[in-house]
Amino acid sequence: MCEGWHEQFAETPDVLKSARLQQTIVQVMDFEIGGDEFVTMAGPCSVETESQLLATAAHVRRAGAHILRGGAFKPRSSPYAFQGLGLEGLKLLARAREETGLAIVTEVMSEEDVPLVAEYADILQIGSRSMENYSLLEAAAHSGRPVLLKRGMVATIADLLRSAQCILDHGNPHVILCERGIRTFETAMRNTFDAAAIALLKQVSHLPVIADPSHAAGHRDLVPALARIAVAAGADGLLVEVHPHPDKAWSDGKQSLDFAGFDEMMDDLKPWIELSGRKLYGSETACIRLMEAVG
Ligand code: PEP
Ligand code: MN
Repeated sequence: MCEGWHEQFAETPDVLKSARLQQTIVQVMDFEIGGDEFVTMAGPCSVETESQLLATAAHVRRAGAHILRGGAFKPRSSPYAFQGLGLEGLKLLARAREETGLAIVTEVMSEEDVPLVAEYADILQIGSRSMENYSLLEAAAHSGRPVLLKRGMVATIADLLRSAQCILDHGNPHVILCERGIRTFETAMRNTFDAAAIALLKQVSHLPVIADPSHAAGHRDLVPALARIAVAAGADGLLVEVHPHPDKAWSDGKQSLDFAGFDEMMDDLKPWIELSGRKLYGSETACIRLMEAVG
């Protein structure tokens, strides 16, 4: 890494690559994030019903996901919009883990909820709107769970690294960065996907970097292309919204892939992931699908 970056990010030395630390690998259940394998986190924006969640979990598992995503506590633009199922949602996530073996990532929005969410989740998600909530970051750090830190929608790369440093400062080195698009003057898409941020973060930081093409695009048609760009930029994995019936989703339906769309994206990504020098999770996955297809 060239010296210039060290000067630019001098406030956050512990998240930068060093002679001692080139890459953090976050162990979750029986796999690693930030290692050789490309990791996919997939699932609905919000946990809605048992059938919605369990069907999605089973499907994304077969298509090669490692982790089930789903919000039980939802940060919404309006306080009158659906706020999530809370504890009931966490219990459904735990049930999905039991049935599929997938790990769970879910958002925690307030400091007081950290112990409860940490009881059910394998990874705590800090949402874009919470990236600079330092008391929440501190509480999440103290939970000991890995933290998926989403970039604030108006946060610079230095801001994101400062929040990551804050979690490290509170004794938790298991931080995963997430680029999910930022606000710019462009309005055609929900956000502007900052692929360069992924490339830069991979150069300067030892922390794993995950890309969220769903919140970046805001339209499901764009999600596969942004996912390919993320792979080419060096991302360690993806966070993608998938729903059995996107048009009926309680939140973020427009950007959610249906099952067929997710399968197609995962198949199309394979050569790109291989080109990037990473291993694909479970070639076993392809075998299961082939066995299903031939009955
Ligand atoms: C989400 O992952 O559903 C979410 C609310 O994301 P963000 O915090 O990036 O808007
Ligand atoms: Mn969402």
